[in-house]
Amino acid sequence: MFQGPLTESILQRAQDEGKIEIHFHDLRTFGQGNYRQVDDKPYGGGAGMLMMAEPIVSAIEKVTAEAQQKKKPYRIYLSPRGKKLTQTRVERIAKKYPWIILLCGHYEGIDQRVIDGGWIDEEISIGDYVLTGGEIPAMVLIDAVARQIPGVLGKDESAAEESFSEALDRKKEYPHYTRPEDFRGHKVPDVLLSGHHAEIEKWRKEQLQ
Ligand code: SAM
Repeated sequence: MFQGPLTESILQRAQDEGKIEIHFHDLRTFGQGNYRQVDDKPYGGGAGMLMMAEPIVSAIEKVTAEAQQKKKPYRIYLSPRGKKLTQTRVERIAKKYPWIILLCGHYEGIDQRVIDGGWIDEEISIGDYVLTGGEIPAMVLIDAVARQIPGVLGKDESAAEESFSEALDRKKEYPHYTRPEDFRGHKVPDVLLSGHHAEIEKWRKEQLQ
C-alpha cells in the first residue's frame, strides 16, 4: 500500500538524499502459530476482529532494539480516537522526534492494553471519520511531517508560508495566480501586477482566512 505515495516525487527524493528514512514492518511476521495469527475475537462479543497485543508489542520491541539508536522512538498509534492531526502537531512531531514508529490498526482496532501498558506514546487521528486501516493515515502523517524536515522541500517549495503556518498566523493561505493575466475573462487581481511589494503584502494579508 505504501508504494506510490511514499515512492514518488518529493518523498522519494528526500529518501534518495538521506533526509528521511522510512522502514516497513509486517506485523504478520510477529504473528502467533502456524497461521501467524495477529487478530482475535473481542472479549464481550460484538462484530469484527481485534489486533492482538502480543504481535504488536513484540514488533515494537524488536524494531526498537534492532535499530540500536541512542534515542527512544516516539510511538504513535493512528486511531480515530486519537488527538486530531493539526499543523501545530505536525510541526511539533517534526521538531521533537527524529525517530517515530507508526502503528497502523486494522479491523476493529487494537487491544487497549498496548496503549495502557505504555507501548504507545500518542494516539493520533487524521479526522473525524473512519478508514479501513491505519496505512493511509500513516502516509498522511509521514507526508506532513517530512515536509517540515529541513532540506526535504526544494528552494521553490517552502513550507514557511503555508496555510496554518505560524507565518500566516495559523490562518488559511491567500489565493495564487499564474499566467495568463486573463483566463477566459477571469483577470488576475490588479494589485498582483502592480509590482508594489508593500501593497501585495497588504492584499495577501487581507486574503487570509
Ligand atoms: N473501531 C474503531 C473505531 O470505531 O474508532 C475503528 C477501527 S478502523 C476500521 C481500523 C483502523 O484504521 C484503526 O485501528 C486505525 O489504525 C485506522 N483508522 C481509521 N480511521 C482513522 C482515522 N480517522 N485516523 C487515524 N487512523 C484511522
